[in-house]
Amino acid sequence: MNPQVVVSKKLLSDIGRWVYVLEQLYMIHTRDLVKGYRGQEVATPVLINVNIDVGDGEFVAVAGPSGSGKSTLFNILGLLEAPDAGSVVFRGRDVGGLGESERLALRRGHIAYVFRQFNLVDELSVAENVELPLLYLKMKRAERRERLEEALGRFGLGHISRRFPRQLSGLQQQMTALARATVFQPKLLLADEPTGNLNSAGGSAVMEALSAINEAGTTLVLFTNSMQEAQKARRIIQLFDGHVVTDHAHT
Ligand code: ADP
Repeated sequence: MNPQVVVSKKLLSDIGRWVYVLEQLYMIHTRDLVKGYRGQEVATPVLINVNIDVGDGEFVAVAGPSGSGKSTLFNILGLLEAPDAGSVVFRGRDVGGLGESERLALRRGHIAYVFRQFNLVDELSVAENVELPLLYLKMKRAERRERLEEALGRFGLGHISRRFPRQLSGLQQQMTALARATVFQPKLLLADEPTGNLNSAGGSAVMEALSAINEAGTTLVLFTNSMQEAQKARRIIQLFDGHVVTDHAHT
């Protein structure tokens, strides 16, 4: 065989391996994301050529005013919605070509979400709400018990574990949502304005809990319209009218 062909094949395979290794270092990254909504008469661009890299273990804030495209980006990074164009790579895997069941499998067990509205199940107690993801994952009873106890303890919910959402304060509801989001030890947590329905003390408590979740190893992307909150992250990506306007590490 021509030695040049051997060399170039080896080189290509080395490059391929390095690209693979580099992609593994990112929890999630996007290239040239475009998303718009088609109204009756006009198409509204919502995200325009958005490039974002989130490293494994990072705490990144996506900050922007209302209408800047945060929730749309949240849905796309959370693999809940597909972009019109561009790519999303989650843990080295391009999710563009995946079917709905494969995307569901990637989300389940890897990605967790918290929202401004706490989104708890009203008919279930605190403990039952927190246990729900473990049931979806078909985890064995003994392990479920262990994880549940640990999560309830970590978020200070042990004494209210039998209460129902309507019997809780806003802060207790959001702490329950955080326990539910992290009970299965997700790789990536996406939080969409998680302090939006809380007073300032409740907001600070939730921000502290989020920082602790990140310090324990979960990659965190916080979407917020508050620059003060965004300062808690180690990197701030500013979104304005669907464009990334700045992307700075923050000391
Ligand atoms: P943010 O979370 O920063 O407030 P959104 O992503 O919710 O921003 O919205 C960005 C823009 O997209 C807004 O102009 C909004 O009106 C528009 N938009 C969001 N969702 C839809 C939808 N389902 N249909 C039409 N327009 C939408």
